[in-house]
Amino acid sequence: MSDKDLYGGLIRLHILHHAAEDPIFGLGIIEELRRHGYDLSAGTLYPMLHGLEKKGYLTSHHERTGRRERRVYEITSVGREALTAAKIKVKELFGELFEDACENSAH
Ligand SMILES: [Zn+2]
Repeated sequence: MSDKDLYGGLIRLHILHHAAEDPIFGLGIIEELRRHGYDLSAGTLYPMLHGLEKKGYLTSHHERTGRRERRVYEITSVGREALTAAKIKVKELFGELFEDACENSAH
């Protein structure tokens, strides 16, 4: 298993999180993820976006601004529900990863 497999879920949650705030597009998300230390190529990101769309978490449409054309992704109500459920799990994991670690290091 590569690091990519390990981070795949985190990246997908990150994508959903930002899509829940504003419509997103590929390059914008690549830049956002880079800010967080994930170096994703378009060849990795687009299949992920496509997968999230296939799952019904995102919908997309083409948007044309002058000569530029890009695919814009928006979260669906199913995507919002999935994100809410995942956040509860992340919170629990966060607790184990950090709070417990603090308790242990106090010994
Ligand atoms: Zn972010």
